[in-house]
Amino acid sequence: MNDSDSLKPNTESKTHVEAAQFLTSQRDAILQSSLSGVFGTDQDGNCTFANAECAKILGYPNADALIGHSMHALIYGSKAEGANVQPSEYKTCEAFQRTAPAYFACETFWKSDGTSLRVECWTTPILRGDQAVGVVVNFKEAVGRREQDLNQSRTEQQLQQQIDAGRSKLAQVSERLSLALTRANIGLWDWDATTDEVYFSPTYKTQLGYSADAAFRDFDAWRSRLHPDDEKMALQRVEEYFAQKTTDYRSKFRMKCADGSYRWLLAQGNADFDSDGKPRRVMGVHIDITEQIASEHELQRLNEELAAANDALRESNFELQQFASVASHDLQAPLRGITGFAKCLQDDYQGKLDDLADDYINRIVNSATRMQRLISDLLQFSRVESRSEPYELTNMNDIFKDAVQLLESTIDAKHALVTSEDLPIVLGDPTQLCQLLQNLIDNGIKYHEGNLPRVHVSVKRDENDWVFSLKDNGIGIDPDYVERVFEIFRRLHTQAVYKGSGIGLALCRRIVDRHHGRIWAESEPGQGSTFSFTLPVNE
Ligand code: ADP
Repeated sequence: MNDSDSLKPNTESKTHVEAAQFLTSQRDAILQSSLSGVFGTDQDGNCTFANAECAKILGYPNADALIGHSMHALIYGSKAEGANVQPSEYKTCEAFQRTAPAYFACETFWKSDGTSLRVECWTTPILRGDQAVGVVVNFKEAVGRREQDLNQSRTEQQLQQQIDAGRSKLAQVSERLSLALTRANIGLWDWDATTDEVYFSPTYKTQLGYSADAAFRDFDAWRSRLHPDDEKMALQRVEEYFAQKTTDYRSKFRMKCADGSYRWLLAQGNADFDSDGKPRRVMGVHIDITEQIASEHELQRLNEELAAANDALRESNFELQQFASVASHDLQAPLRGITGFAKCLQDDYQGKLDDLADDYINRIVNSATRMQRLISDLLQFSRVESRSEPYELTNMNDIFKDAVQLLESTIDAKHALVTSEDLPIVLGDPTQLCQLLQNLIDNGIKYHEGNLPRVHVSVKRDENDWVFSLKDNGIGIDPDYVERVFEIFRRLHTQAVYKGSGIGLALCRRIVDRHHGRIWAESEPGQGSTFSFTLPVNE
C-alpha cells in the first residue's frame, strides 16, 4: 500500500463528513431562518428535529424540549371538544400515509399551556426509496383566519342577539297589538290580492259571532256576508279605491253575523300597489259601528222631530205675533175712545158730582191710560221681527241724541243728567236701536230715588263686538233677579211704586238678539245698575 492508497479512505471519509456537516449546517440555517414552525418526526411520530419558531409557537422553552417526544401526543393532545383524537385522524399523518405532500388550511394544534391555536400547515414525507420514514411539518398560526373567524363569530353572535332582541320586541308588540285590537273589538284583515288569500284575525270573526278559528280564507268570506243592499256600493268602493289609489280605503257596510243578524262595520285600510298600479296587498281593520250608527239614526230622528217642533213653534209664534199685533192694533181704536171720553168726563164733571163719582172717573182715566201704554208696548214687541227696517250703517251718537230728545220731558221733569262718550257706527235698524237706548235710559231715570238721576253711556271694543254699557245711579236690582228682568211682563215693583208694563227689557233683548248681540245687567241693590249689550263690529 502506497501513501496515496493509505490516504484515500481518509480523504473519502473526510469528504463525507464535510458534506454531512455542510448539509446539517444548511438544514439548521433553513430551519432557524424559517418564519414558520418546522418540525420533523420519524415513522413513529417522535420529533427528530424542530426549529426555535416551532418551540415558540407551541409554547416550549426551546426546540430541544421537543426532540424525542411524540409530536402527535403534544399537538393533538385533545380536540377542541375535549375528546381524544385517534391517531388515524392525525392530519399530519396523511402525508406519511400517502407518501405525498399535503396542505391543511385550518388545523387545531395544542400548546404546552393547554390552549389551542389555529394553524395552516404543510406536511411533506421524508422518503427512503419509495418508503416514508418520517415527515416534515411546516406550520404557522392562521392569524388572519383566526381573526376573521373571531370577527365572523362575533358578528354572527351580535346578529343573533339582534335577531333575538328583535324577535322578543316583535312578540311584545304583536302581543300588545293583539290585546289592543281584541279589547277595542277591532278586526284585522290582510288580503293578498295576487293569491286572493285573506288573513282574518280572531276578533274579525268573533265580531260577527263566529268562533275565532272559523274558516274564513278568501275575499269571498267578506263579499258573501255583505248585506244585499250594501254589496254593490261596498264592491264599487273597493274598485274606486283601486282606481284612484287614494291614501286610505274607507267604507261602511252591514255584514251578516253567524245568527243571521247584521252589524254595521267601518272598514279602513291601505293597499300596496305594484309598478303597474295593481294592488299587491291590502291590509286594514274592521270596526263595529252598529251602536254609533244606531245613535246617529236616533239623533237624526230626534233632529227631525226637533225641526218639525221648531216649524210648528215658529208657525204658532207667527200666529201669536199676528194675533198680538192685530189685537193690540184693533184694541187701540176703541181704547182711544174710552180714554178720550173718560178724559172729557173728567174735564167736564170733576168736582160737579160727588167724591165717589170723581174717584170712579179718575180710576177709569188711569186704567185706560195704562192699558193704552200696555197695548202700545205689546204692539212694538210684536213688531220687532215683522216690521223691522233693513239694516243700515247707523251712527250710535245720532241714535243717542234721538233717544234723549224723545225722553226730553221725562229728563226735564226728573232733572236727570244723561251723558255719553263718543259712540261707534254700527250696522242695524235705527228705529229699533233708538227704541233700545230709549228704554234703557228711561229705566235708568225711572228706577231711582233720592239724589238726581244720572245715566252714562260708554262703549268699549271686545274682539269682534262693541260692548255698550248704560250705568245709572238708581235703586239697583237684587242679583238674583238680574236675569229674570228680561222676561216679558216680569216686574219687580207694583204699579203703585213704579208704573210700567214689564215689556221694556224683553223688547230690548229681542232687538239685541235680532242684531246678533247679547244683553245682560249687573247690579246690587242701592248701588245703581249697569245694563250692557253687544253689537257686532262692522269693519
Ligand atoms: P217696566 O219698566 O215697564 O216695568 P221693564 O221690562 O223695562 O219693564 O223692566 C222690568 C223690571 O226690571 C222693572 O219693573 C224693574 O223692576 C226692573 N228694572 C229695569 N231697569 C231697571 C233699572 N235701571 N234699575 C232698577 N231696576 C230696573
